[in-house]
Amino acid sequence: MSENILRYDSKKKDVVILIDRNLCKGCDICIKVCKPECLALVDAPDKWEGAVVDVVNADDCTFCKLCELQCPDFGIRILRKDEVGKIQFGDTKKTAAEQ
Ligand code: SF4
Ligand code: SF4
Repeated sequence: MSENILRYDSKKKDVVILIDRNLCKGCDICIKVCKPECLALVDAPDKWEGAVVDVVNADDCTFCKLCELQCPDFGIRILRKDEVGKIQFGDTKKTAAEQ
């Protein structure tokens, strides 16, 4: 996995949140739609936008995928643990079964 892709595994559930720091522009759309407040913006001085989304609470993720569906830049993916590695960023319409 690329070093620009950050992986956060829920300790309680079969949920993995992946963030692509190259694609994320820190717009905060995903943060606003996440009701359990799993996500937050953090400073990213290395990025032109100056911020990037980060995961602060993967354990409360409900797998609703609203963040993934609303992100205009394909910067965040919500997966089952056995899907990691089978799905590429920017490939939102494909499921593991379609690979
Ligand atoms: S992951 Fe997408 S919606 Fe969330 S801050 Fe980054 S660009 Fe915006
Ligand atoms: S899938 Fe739903 S609960 Fe999980 S991080 Fe995304 S918006 Fe939040």
